[in-house]
Amino acid sequence: MLEKLKNQVKLKSVNFKLEPTKMNRLLIFAVSWIVCSSPFTVQAQNDAKVKKMEYAIVLHGGAGSAPNQFSKEKNAARRQSLEKALNKGKSILAAGGSSLDAVEAVIRTMEDDPIFNAGKGAVYNARGKFELDASIMDGSNRACGAVAGVTNTRNPISLARLVMTKTKHVLLSSEGANEFARQMNVEIVPNLYFQTPTTKARWERQNSSKGAQLKPMPKRPSYFGTVGCVALDKQGNIAAATSTGGLSNKKYGRVGDSPIIGAGTYADNQTCGVSCTGIGEHFIRNAVAFDVSARMKYKKLAVDQAAKEVIHKVLAKNYGGLIALDRQGNIAIEYNTKGMSSAAADSNGRFEVNWGDK
Ligand code: ASP
Repeated sequence: MLEKLKNQVKLKSVNFKLEPTKMNRLLIFAVSWIVCSSPFTVQAQNDAKVKKMEYAIVLHGGAGSAPNQFSKEKNAARRQSLEKALNKGKSILAAGGSSLDAVEAVIRTMEDDPIFNAGKGAVYNARGKFELDASIMDGSNRACGAVAGVTNTRNPISLARLVMTKTKHVLLSSEGANEFARQMNVEIVPNLYFQTPTTKARWERQNSSKGAQLKPMPKRPSYFGTVGCVALDKQGNIAAATSTGGLSNKKYGRVGDSPIIGAGTYADNQTCGVSCTGIGEHFIRNAVAFDVSARMKYKKLAVDQAAKEVIHKVLAKNYGGLIALDRQGNIAIEYNTKGMSSAAADSNGRFEVNWGDK
């Protein structure tokens, strides 16, 4: 009897031991399945991916001609200028600086470089004067600022940032913007400061033909050099900025896409930052910069797909190009002209200048 009882207890304990093991396996499987597929875990995995790329930056030096239309020396100089600007932005981001500081510093560097059509080196308008446009946008809160037709501010991008931070407005133009520049104590220069021998010779060539000012819009941007920059910082914030002298020989008072938020510049942490270059009128008509962001938001496209669709399906050939950057640090560089100079870097070791290397 005692033996029988002992056996029963053994059997029960064996059963007891076996059952929970199977159960445990099932339980572990079920719990891990629930945990892994929960929205919180998916979000955490996505966040981990976001954190993987600490910072990224992309800039452009305008769309238009191809490298083979320039001399070796000019191409080497352009590459050097792009690299200098890229290093400037990269070092700010690597040190933990904000994307806004990075894009502003990059654009200032390019505005001071006579090789680009922005700040010093800007193209002439039809009256033989310089009218500059610039804009900047903060993707963390969609704050933005812009100036159009400024004539005496050495660095229009910094004035655009001051419109964003020191006024309740988004865009100031012409005399009002000039007056604001004086109030803000930014560096003021004579209008002729922006001239270079290259832009002067070009304007004289263009203006020597009779009725030059009445000519229709160019079929393609032939001059090269509007500048733009988009950056993602270590805090996960995106910023975008664009600066230009506009189209060569433009009508007095003409404003392009570069200072128009949603056309030439856009930034939203949820989607991407964008800076455009090309024949501004087409970029305004098609709200190009916003369209890239909208395609990501509503169509759930990746940044490069969204950029491709807008540049190759919405815009006609030879209209221009854009750079864009999403919150994971993915970069898109897209254009439908013969060329567009650009440069890009990120915290995973990417460092490239795309000009004159093909
Ligand atoms: N988009 C500029 C404008 O139309 C020019 C350019 O990008 O080259 O003013």
